[in-house]
Amino acid sequence: IAARVAALGPSPFAEMTALAQRYGAVNLGQGFPDFGPPAFLQDALLHAAMSSAHQYSPPPGLPTLREAVAEMLAPTLGFVADPEQEVTITVGATEGLAAALLALIEPGDEVVLIEPAYDSYAPQVRMAGGTPRSVSLQRSAAGWDLPLAALQEAGNGRTKAIVLNTPHNPTGKVFSSGELAAVAAFARQWDAYVLSDEVYDRLTFERPHVSIASLPDMRERTVTLGSVGKTFAATGWRIGWAVASPELTAALRGAHTFGPFCAPTPLQAAVAQGLRTAREQGYEDTMRAEYRVKRDLLTAALRAVGFEVLPCDGTFFLLADWSPFAEQAGTHDDREFCRWLVREVGVAAIAPSIFFSAPHRAQGAHLARFVFCKTLSGLEEAAARLDRLR
Ligand code: PMP
Ligand code: GLN
Repeated sequence: IAARVAALGPSPFAEMTALAQRYGAVNLGQGFPDFGPPAFLQDALLHAAMSSAHQYSPPPGLPTLREAVAEMLAPTLGFVADPEQEVTITVGATEGLAAALLALIEPGDEVVLIEPAYDSYAPQVRMAGGTPRSVSLQRSAAGWDLPLAALQEAGNGRTKAIVLNTPHNPTGKVFSSGELAAVAAFARQWDAYVLSDEVYDRLTFERPHVSIASLPDMRERTVTLGSVGKTFAATGWRIGWAVASPELTAALRGAHTFGPFCAPTPLQAAVAQGLRTAREQGYEDTMRAEYRVKRDLLTAALRAVGFEVLPCDGTFFLLADWSPFAEQAGTHDDREFCRWLVREVGVAAIAPSIFFSAPHRAQGAHLARFVFCKTLSGLEEAAARLDRLR
């Protein structure tokens, strides 16, 4: 077995979902909705299924979808990406990031990860032959801040890229304009790329999303990654995109073509239609308003029983400090706490320590991550179960 995979265990998200099923728990763990995509998107899939869109598509993606993605992202990117040369349709954002890393990383290259960091980043960096280097967000009254001095220290002549994720999983942080400017300056200083994971770009509650590619000189050195999974409640469709300069796009298309070859064609056809309908119907505003209500509902439910809930400006995740229940649960370890919660209370959550590298694991120890991408009745059921903690 190759060393690059030998140390990888099962997905902690999938494990928690299996536990939630075993205990009949309300699953506020793995980040997927318990409701389906909007009706117009399901109709578009039916239509695609009845059409001829069943064979391979061009590896870069169906031209209609690349055009729709370029149009959709133009307001936040600040430019209309060229669908021919700058947009690639990937198998979710996960594959887009893997392709970008494979396209850029040489042995010995370093990739800066901002911790807590989504769990696929470090393994993907290693599988591409690189070395992850972490910078930790710092807890503050406002939530979490990017420490600019630590960011400075993380750069060196081997720095090839920095992975940015805004809005941020698991903290719900939306990076400030000052922080984005600092990441851009860091990239310019070290002649590095920014791999910008923006899968939650439509899910901001306090201020609009800003793509780092819209900052001066950043179009050339940014890969903007996105996906339909979160926005359209379609995490299993596995349709994502990578927007990058023509040169970078050509490179990442190499990794993509000789990886999955293309994303599933019928799903691409459905999404191309769906993105346009979404715009005509003002779907994003409706979705955001619904998520805001759900965020507030779950926040109130957690606070009512005694959790300290950290601010959430974007995504569909809430981090809650469970220290008041440490004695009841008989542990100070977040993984133990989440196992206890799913078994004894019937609510599944994710232990945030999985988002930290070993030296920083203690930073997540008294927190648990709860999702609010559930129906109101699902959240109310979770609230009723959490009430047993009183
Ligand atoms: N990045 C982040 C920050 C995520 O939370 C997730 C999980 N949904 C992904 C990437 C994966 O996105 P996709 O399902 O499009 O591969
Ligand atoms: N992004 C999801 C989460 O953070 C999990 C995705 C997955 O399980 N691959 O919960």
